[in-house]
Amino acid sequence: SSFAHFSLDGGLMKVIRKQEYTQPTPIQAQAVPAALLGRDVLGIAKTGSGKTAAFVWPMITHILDQPALDLKDGPIGIILAPTRELALQIHTEVRRFGRPYGIRVVCCYGGGSKWEQSKALEEGAEIVVATPGRMIDMVKMEATNLRRVTFLVLDEADRMFDMGFEPQVRSICDHVRPDRQTLMFSATFKKKIEKLARDVLVDPVKIVQ
Ligand code: AMP
Repeated sequence: SSFAHFSLDGGLMKVIRKQEYTQPTPIQAQAVPAALLGRDVLGIAKTGSGKTAAFVWPMITHILDQPALDLKDGPIGIILAPTRELALQIHTEVRRFGRPYGIRVVCCYGGGSKWEQSKALEEGAEIVVATPGRMIDMVKMEATNLRRVTFLVLDEADRMFDMGFEPQVRSICDHVRPDRQTLMFSATFKKKIEKLARDVLVDPVKIVQ
């Protein structure tokens, strides 16, 4: 498999070449075409598999397909992650691939300044990367809203549950319009994750790494 099969936009391809990625990883080879077709995806994959790019490229493609929107109305894509460290890593990757398009991304995590994060959200962004509790805090503070979100990613869902974020993850999923596209990744596939997948994904393409 090669990147050419994905038919990604030129700006994304340019960054991929600059990163010197020679071929898609197995999770990318399976998840990216499915996500580009608009399908929900359930990926059982660990860190190091290249899963971040597997959701970042389709999310950016989804955003490029939208009409010009007022960013103050809220983000189009949100990515939930269990920890500040992972959220910051994802933020870096989204910025790297979003840069050719001037895509704005804000990262919100517990322990960071609520004031600074809410200011950044109020300025507007296409993409928000957040830990679940802080995402809810930001919505409650009316720094942002989820009305316009049409692309949702749950990364390391099992770790979010292990950390006690199940209610927050479910609440966020309930507040995002049901006709959204959802990509969910988890290193393990236990009963609770299987249940979440059944509740929040629609006819997903399941990929086991
Ligand atoms: P992740 O599993 O998303 O945390 O990615 C692990 C590492 O693999 C990161 O440093 C990525 O930059 C890198 N990576 C992602 N996709 C590729 C690829 N197709 N070829 C080589 N490295 C990659």
